[in-house]
Amino acid sequence: MNTNIIVITGGSRGIGAATAQLAAAQGYAVCISYLHNKAAADAVVKAITDSGGTAIAVRADVASEPDVVNLFETVDRSLGRVTALVNNAGILERQMRVEDMDAGRLSRILATNVTGSFLCAREAVRRMSARHGGNGGAIVNLSSVAARLGAPNEYVDYAASKGAIDAFTVGLAKEVAAEGIRVNAVRPGVIYTDIHASGGEPGRVERVKDAVPMKRGGDAQEVANAILWLLSDQASYTTGALVDVAGGR
Ligand code: NAP
Repeated sequence: MNTNIIVITGGSRGIGAATAQLAAAQGYAVCISYLHNKAAADAVVKAITDSGGTAIAVRADVASEPDVVNLFETVDRSLGRVTALVNNAGILERQMRVEDMDAGRLSRILATNVTGSFLCAREAVRRMSARHGGNGGAIVNLSSVAARLGAPNEYVDYAASKGAIDAFTVGLAKEVAAEGIRVNAVRPGVIYTDIHASGGEPGRVERVKDAVPMKRGGDAQEVANAILWLLSDQASYTTGALVDVAGGR
C-alpha cells in the first residue's frame, strides 16, 4: 500500500504527464485527471503500471464542481487519502489583444485555471488538514512567468489567471501552514508542450527562445523535477514560494 498518494490534474499530457511518471518512479500512487484525450491518459497509466507503479486516470473537468468532487471521491475509494496535489490543468486560447476578447473566453480561462485550482485545493485540504483529522500534505500550483511578464499581444487573460494563482498560492499557504499543509507554485517559462498549439502557434518556443537568458526552451521533465522537490520532505520548510523554472527569463 502506497503512503504517498498524488492527484495531478491534467496529467495526461505535457508537464502533468512528466510529473505523473516522475511521481510514480518515486513511489507515489498516482491519479491523473484529463478532459478530452482518454487515449493519452490511458498511455500514461499504462507506462506507469508497466513499470510496476500504481496509477489511475479519471475524466474530470476541473471547472466542474461535481467532476472535482467525483475525482477526489474516486481517489478515496481507489487509492486512499490524498497526500499531494498538483494543480496542473491549465488552458490558453488563440493569441489576441485584450480589445478583441469576449466574456465567454474570459470565463473559460478563469474557470479552468483559477476556479479549477481552488476547487481541487478545497477537496485536498478537506482530506489533508489536521483540522479535518488529516495527516498533512503538500500542494503545488502551476503558475507561469506570464504572471509577471503579462503576455502582451498573446494572452493577457491567461497571464492574469496565473497572477491569481500566485496570490492564491501565497494566501492558501498561510491559511493552512499550521495544519500540516505546504502550498507552493512553480512558474515555468517556455516549455516544449502542446499548449502553444492551443494559442495558434505550435512553434512558439522556437520563436521566443532566444529571449531566454539560457537561449533554449525547457522540457516538461525539468518542471516536473521542481514540482516533485516542492512536494518532498526536502522542501519541508518551504511554503508560499513561487519557484521560477524559466531559464532565467
Ligand atoms: P498541455 O500540454 O496543453 O496539457 C494540458 C493538460 O491539461 C492536458 O492533460 C489536458 O487534458 C488537461 N486539461 C485541460 N483542460 C482541462 C480541464 N478543464 N480539466 C481537466 N484537465 C484539463 O499543457 P502544459 O503545457 O503541460 O501546461 C501544464 C500547466 O503548466 C498549465 O497550467 C500551464 O498553464 C502551465 N504552464 C505551461 C507552460 C508551457 O510553456 N508549456 C508555461 C508556463 C506554465 P486533455 O488532453 O484531456 O485535454
